[in-house]
Amino acid sequence: MENIEWQNLGFGYRKTDYNIRCYYRNGEWGELETSSSDIINLHMAATALHYGQEAFEGLKAFKGKDGKIRVFRMDENAKRLQNSCDGILMPQLPVEKFMEAVRMAIKMNKHFVPPYESGAALYIRPLLIGTGPQIGVKAADEFLFIVFVMPVGPYFPEGFKPTDLVIIRGQDRAAPQGTGKYKVGGNYAASMGAGKLAKKKGFSAVLYLDSKEKKYIDECGPANFFGIKNKTYVTPLSESILPSITNKSLMMLAEELGLKVERRKVPYEELATFEEVGACGTAAVISPVKGVYDADNDKWFKYGDQKEAGEWSTKLYNKLRSIQYGDEPDKFKWVEVVE
Ligand SMILES: *Cc1c(COP(=O)(O)O)cnc(C)c1O
Repeated sequence: MENIEWQNLGFGYRKTDYNIRCYYRNGEWGELETSSSDIINLHMAATALHYGQEAFEGLKAFKGKDGKIRVFRMDENAKRLQNSCDGILMPQLPVEKFMEAVRMAIKMNKHFVPPYESGAALYIRPLLIGTGPQIGVKAADEFLFIVFVMPVGPYFPEGFKPTDLVIIRGQDRAAPQGTGKYKVGGNYAASMGAGKLAKKKGFSAVLYLDSKEKKYIDECGPANFFGIKNKTYVTPLSESILPSITNKSLMMLAEELGLKVERRKVPYEELATFEEVGACGTAAVISPVKGVYDADNDKWFKYGDQKEAGEWSTKLYNKLRSIQYGDEPDKFKWVEVVE
């Protein structure tokens, strides 16, 4: 194995030694298989390619000071994948099979788990795709589940620094009763245009309003939204957002830290009242937000001192990270020591 510069990894694809595969044929899931190839042999009429029959997950494993490798809340990812499968007519993968595939993928690539000091982690990408051929619009009869992993760099190599989000009303990511609540590739294809526009203008992501009325905050492209004010953690309740496991964890930690937690509709106007704002997801845990720009009305909402993350966001971030790396007791039983 080549020497990896853990500090300079970034977030990009990188081949590791093995991936885990499981095929669904004749109405049942087979055994877990290992492969050292990062290529799959796919029928050109596979439903994943034409009709977007695909769902994915994202989670991380961390090496602690004690040298142990911990994986964070993978049962939640397994259940969420089952939910995504229900949403787009794919067969559910058993939770235990998902978890065993993740454990195997970590163990077989353990040399790729970054050292504790680097602040980097092993990113785990499970996906489930329709592989059976169809030309009429209907579900495939064969499916493939894969888990591959790669080391990814620390999300904040220069420190935990806030960025700006942008509201663009002209492009929606997910319909109110559509697939926004499932982690499916189609939502991401739908968000690429707006995402690119946002990046080009110097914003880190789009903050989507609800697609129907444009009155309430939904979420960011790949991360949930939260705001903090008057010692209250506020996060949107909506049919079209993805239930983030990071957000779910932060809500519990916020209560532990003495904040009130409100999960409810968050009107656009409320952006003017938050003391702190953040986006949360596996990639960064929390991306602190220093400003939200409403591009249609040329209006800015600003947060904090513009340089540093707010007090509560920092506390929440540190608390979750220290559980993930095993620095703090795992009182909620969120981590599994894999090796
Ligand atoms: C994956 C994802 C998130 C974050 O979920 P986590 O479980 O916290 O990683 C948020 N929003 C969308 C749209 C996502 O796909």
